[in-house]
Amino acid sequence: MKLPILTIVVPCYNEEEVFEETYKQLKEILRDLIDEKYVSNTSKLLFVNDGSKDSTWEKITQAYLQDDSVHGIKLARNFGHQKALLAGLEDAVTYSDCVISIDADLQDDVQVIKEFVIKYLEGYDVVYGVRDSRETDTAFKRSTALGFYRLMDKLGLPLVNNHADYRLLSKRALEALLQFKETHLFLRGIVPLVGFKSTKVYYDRKERLAGESKYPLKKMLSFAFDGITSFSIKPIRLITVLGFSASFISLLAAIYVLYQKFATDTVSGWASVMISIWFIGGLLLMSIGLIGEYIGKIYEEVKQRPRYIVEESLFHESKVDQYMK
Ligand code: UDP
Ligand code: MG
Repeated sequence: MKLPILTIVVPCYNEEEVFEETYKQLKEILRDLIDEKYVSNTSKLLFVNDGSKDSTWEKITQAYLQDDSVHGIKLARNFGHQKALLAGLEDAVTYSDCVISIDADLQDDVQVIKEFVIKYLEGYDVVYGVRDSRETDTAFKRSTALGFYRLMDKLGLPLVNNHADYRLLSKRALEALLQFKETHLFLRGIVPLVGFKSTKVYYDRKERLAGESKYPLKKMLSFAFDGITSFSIKPIRLITVLGFSASFISLLAAIYVLYQKFATDTVSGWASVMISIWFIGGLLLMSIGLIGEYIGKIYEEVKQRPRYIVEESLFHESKVDQYMK
């Protein structure tokens, strides 16, 4: 029986502090998998350098030069985690039977890679890595993440709770995934839409090995916002409902005001006028802003710009040729 070729895709942005350790650990896992005949000996580690400003690319190059199982892609600038991952997936799909994506900081337990592969061999096309505990994340990150998953749930999006981008995809699941051409990528939202037989593997999320999170609050919020507006038009519908309710309430208020005017002879009303102007004004601005978000998204999607640009690609031809034959 032909053993499957596995590629482990690792997006790296300013990860010089962790690169060597990450490479070492992944290499060990890969070697074990090959020795135990789970995967083919042409399996690969693919590091995608997402415009790092430090020596990450030099380190990737070094690893590539001394190791046949290392591939490297250098993007022309920083495109963001999702697009770096996409670049890796689009490359890997051409020479792999299954692909695992993992962050460079080793927060996700590499030991479960073997379980991923076993599930794949059992016939699963998608294997989600799910964090059992998030004790090492800050309370703030945990609660915002929980809020986000709840919100997505309310919006009717089939997200896998506590799953980030640590997963295995079979070739056909990956090919299906790559047919989603949107500029605003939210991979973990798209994967469940692809379908196929899927399962989950649980693990503990650890502390970042070294370096800082590349997802400061601002990026996290924009990521969450992207996630919502890329998958649901419910927020826009909410505006319509709000608009209708506000109009209805205004109508009731108008009746009350008229009654006041004719039944009593107060000249009051300043407060209520001011309040309604502010209230409706705020509502309008918010609505326009939200609709603008969607229009902006349409604008960016119709331009169909490339989602990433590769500057350099380190590739062991010979090994790949074997597979192509
Ligand atoms: N990353 C990337 N480009 C970016 C930001 C992050 O390729 O613009 C990579 C980063 O090197 C890491 C992964 O994406 O491998 C996840 O980033 P990080 O660990 O900082 O996120 P967190 O775990 O804090 O959510
Ligand atoms: Mg991390």
